[in-house]
Amino acid sequence: SNSVSDDYSVQRTNDDATQCKFFAIQKGYWKDDFISRFANSAANVAESRRFPEISMGYWARTMAIEKYVREFLNEFQGNAQVVSLGCGFDTLFWRLSSSGAKIVKYVEVDFSSVTSKKIRHILKPVGSDGVDLKKSFEKEAQVSHHADLHAGNYHLIGADLRQPNELHHKLDQCELDHKIPTIFIAECVLVYMSADASSTLLNRIVSQFEQPAFVNYEQFRTSDEFTKVMEQNLGERGIQLHGLEMCESAESQQERFLAAGFKSVKVMDMNQIFTKFLDQQEANRIRGIEMLDEMELLEQLLAHYCIVFART
Ligand code: SAM
Repeated sequence: SNSVSDDYSVQRTNDDATQCKFFAIQKGYWKDDFISRFANSAANVAESRRFPEISMGYWARTMAIEKYVREFLNEFQGNAQVVSLGCGFDTLFWRLSSSGAKIVKYVEVDFSSVTSKKIRHILKPVGSDGVDLKKSFEKEAQVSHHADLHAGNYHLIGADLRQPNELHHKLDQCELDHKIPTIFIAECVLVYMSADASSTLLNRIVSQFEQPAFVNYEQFRTSDEFTKVMEQNLGERGIQLHGLEMCESAESQQERFLAAGFKSVKVMDMNQIFTKFLDQQEANRIRGIEMLDEMELLEQLLAHYCIVFART
């Protein structure tokens, strides 16, 4: 059975992620010309005010995932695909294509209530920001059931990741090539599924794709205290989540990917990502944006999140 709370609250975690990213981008943590399309720019700044530690965490997670995806695409000279699971309002497709990155196909999946909103934002007429998200599409966007969009090199589909048959059917419509290298992204997504549902998902990916890779970002090393604080924070923003099933350690992350058939699995906590994996000149610039009185809180926060990179 699925112990995770109602789907509506899970979908709302995307609004929260989008607002946190929008806030950090406005503060100068990183550049994203596309997110304002998806963010609620009317949200009161004081209301969306975030601790610097939160923005620094978002910077590290966004940059680490982008780095893994870019390196993967470069390795295969762009002859590769990207599938973003639980994509929310993520903008990586546009960040990649506007920088000239070559990708055969980019597919995004989320609940149809989320994809239908994303589609509306994508199709909005060009505003004062001059941003036209349709410009990156190879073909004219075809929308079906308000929840799926197909545009040649870009696809956005509404499906529940816990329903393998529905997901499979929807992915088929995107005409992915199962033979070429394909990197799957799950940014703060698997944690909202039961352990059974996420392992079914991982198993399917390994059995259906010949050269899959997976980059997973999520909470780990949890304690009852940490889970309580996290659920409380979300609760204050009207998001009711209880009974999240988190991996306890780097080893349990490793085990779940190995069990699904991945052969090499690298797990780093976000402190390692921050101080080793990411560009250190950038990391220093990030530290200087909003001076922290002490680093302990940041280190504690980062220690509870990890990036897993798995390949077959
Ligand atoms: N990946 C985006 C990011 O990091 O900005 C969004 C993260 S948000 C915390 C989690 C997303 O996963 C939400 O958009 C939610 O709707 C989606 N999600 C969670 N469980 C899902 C499921 N079973 N099927 C489809 N989408 C799901």
